[in-house]
Amino acid sequence: MSKRCKACGQDFRPRPQVPKQTYCSTPECQRERRRSTQQKKRREDPDYLGNDSDYYKEWASKNSDYWKRYREDHPDYTDRNRQMQQNRNQKQREARIAKVDVSGQPFSLPSGRYRLTPITADGIANEDAWIVEITVLSALCEDSEA
Ligand SMILES: [Zn+2]
Repeated sequence: MSKRCKACGQDFRPRPQVPKQTYCSTPECQRERRRSTQQKKRREDPDYLGNDSDYYKEWASKNSDYWKRYREDHPDYTDRNRQMQQNRNQKQREARIAKVDVSGQPFSLPSGRYRLTPITADGIANEDAWIVEITVLSALCEDSEA
């Protein structure tokens, strides 16, 4: 059974020792896996965050042009990073769109023209409005339990 790598999106065959493998074995994707594990750890473990970022700040102040030089010397690295960041942005966009679809209520908006009014964080409708035309492509909840 092949899986899709979370970093590069290529299909890969998980190693038999690691049935839950979600990143392919290329060094770049393994780095991405470690990066994302570290990010998760930073979010969830405040102590780890403190130690790690103090250490890094000190190192970075002594090596301020390290990454600039590294990027200049490794154009492939920068291209690849840009590509992977675009993938992450795309996934986030898709996640936001998906939230709209799973809002819970059966969705039965007919096609037609609507007035779209921005609402501020405190729930007050802005005076500006757009007239938008919405065309319903498929009735998502047509066969939900009635
Ligand atoms: Zn990969």
